[in-house]
Amino acid sequence: MIIVMRPEATKEQLERVLTKLTAVGLKVHLSEGATRTIVGVIGDKRFIAQMPIEAMDGVEKMVPVTVDYKLVSREFKQENTIVDVGGVLIGGNHMVVMAGPCAVESREQLLQSAQIVKKAGAQFLRGGAYKPRTSPYAFQGLEVHGLEMLAEAREKTGLKIVTEVVDVESVAVVSEYADMLQIGSRNMQNFQLLKTVGKTTKPVLLKRGLSATINEWLNAAEYIMSEGNYNVVLCERGIRTYEEYTRNTLDLSAVAAIKNISHLPIIVDPSHGTGRWELVGPMARAGIAAGADGLMIEVHPNPAEALSDGKQSLTPENFTILMQEATTIGKIMGKILI
Ligand code: PEP
Ligand code: MN
Repeated sequence: MIIVMRPEATKEQLERVLTKLTAVGLKVHLSEGATRTIVGVIGDKRFIAQMPIEAMDGVEKMVPVTVDYKLVSREFKQENTIVDVGGVLIGGNHMVVMAGPCAVESREQLLQSAQIVKKAGAQFLRGGAYKPRTSPYAFQGLEVHGLEMLAEAREKTGLKIVTEVVDVESVAVVSEYADMLQIGSRNMQNFQLLKTVGKTTKPVLLKRGLSATINEWLNAAEYIMSEGNYNVVLCERGIRTYEEYTRNTLDLSAVAAIKNISHLPIIVDPSHGTGRWELVGPMARAGIAAGADGLMIEVHPNPAEALSDGKQSLTPENFTILMQEATTIGKIMGKILI
């Protein structure tokens, strides 16, 4: 249920509404817009509907939410959310690029990657220290040593760090090193993990599950936000279809759909979305043209030697070209890369 306050409602009137709701154990979330405040109420719908909230001073109306998520919806918040990651803004008229290797493989490989992506103009360095691999025999990541290397790369370049957190146990250690926590596709419905990152204040990059509907994905974001962490950025990374030529089918219609139904920023990952380096540039351009707020791109100093996802990783030269093209399209879309 959503409670829309009148534009002229006073602080005291709002306080009285909040007290009434919390006194009976309901959870409340505030969205303070330019003209009015909206209160999202979480709890039993039928119970809330019976409360005489509409009779209270300052309240304009109570609106039942038609979808099962609330906080992520445009009904709850009309303005686009801008997520601030240590001064790098994601959303609105800002364009963000997160780039780097699939996995942190060694200090040399990571520092070299960081220099490449920094030089080309990206703001974030990506790279998995904990790798959720399909096969248990594949390279699993350098774990804490990988995190230390990421932190060193940040020291040297000023790039922000986004890296994956694969389980509840490692949220604390990854939060110590990273600027942004990545929830990978395979963990999108790990509700315990979602709740745990929701209790932190770290911005979260939530990748779409490989078989998740848009509704399931937004509900996953709702899990994080309902714990109090509103700094969520979505990432479309392709879904499983019958097509085998590409690794996944990059669903760019999801970008346009999310923009309609949610206020959260969304970026596109054409690397995992296609699985083929030669398709990454065209789909990155298309993603920005579809309205995405940025990109996540796998880049490796030497893709042929990569320990994971070399086939979809760009060379430094191709990444530099992609950055130039994406920036040009971003400008047309009213987005600037700073
Ligand atoms: C990644 O970005 O490192 C990754 C594993 O991607 P996904 O979770 O989208 O498969
Ligand atoms: Mn990868």
